[in-house]
Amino acid sequence: MNASAFLALQDVDTALDVITHKRPRLPEVIAHQGATAALADLRSRMAAAQQRIDAAQAGIEAAEQAADALTKKRTRLEAQLKTVIAPREAEALMHEIETINGHRGDLDDQELAALEEQAAGESTLLELLDSLAGHEGGVATAKAQLDAVYATVDSEVADLRQQRSDVVAALGPDSSALYERVRKQFGGVGVARLEGSHCSGCHMDLSPRELDIVKAVPAGTLAECPQCGRIIVR
Ligand SMILES: [Zn+2]
Repeated sequence: MNASAFLALQDVDTALDVITHKRPRLPEVIAHQGATAALADLRSRMAAAQQRIDAAQAGIEAAEQAADALTKKRTRLEAQLKTVIAPREAEALMHEIETINGHRGDLDDQELAALEEQAAGESTLLELLDSLAGHEGGVATAKAQLDAVYATVDSEVADLRQQRSDVVAALGPDSSALYERVRKQFGGVGVARLEGSHCSGCHMDLSPRELDIVKAVPAGTLAECPQCGRIIVR
């Protein structure tokens, strides 16, 4: 029974656990998420500006169409005015033409407001477009840094897995099964070091008597921490 192989296997597994925990929390992951979110936000603000421009354009077209219809009607009434003789009829037509002119004025105001709104939307869109390349570059840089750090981490993982299978092969099936059992039982750390009188598993100090018991365990036999029950290796 090779106690130090148990410890070696525990060290490899602890290192793998650390990587599994830190991989999604790497600064490069956070930076990439931040850059991606900033780009998405910019794109959504650009889409909103474009919608504003499109809505203003629709308003301009609607005002122009309505103004055209009124112009046609006014032309017709003006032609009619030249043919009427009765003053009351002429007065009524002139009143109607005046009303049309008033409506046309309102439509012109509406069109002007829509043109201003469109210009404001276009200036917002241009401003946002200015920073698009920068944001896209930021995402690309963050992605490259993320890929690089993932490559490093993944190669560390590959090395650790290779070490692990070597240690497991050296331990043999029975010891490996025992190791897996205690690792599961203690939530990841089933093998601890005896550091002076201190157990690295439960971080408790062993009493001199407990220490003597652990130290009396013959070589080739696994000792247990009297405090936590983990395999303890001197
Ligand atoms: Zn312990």
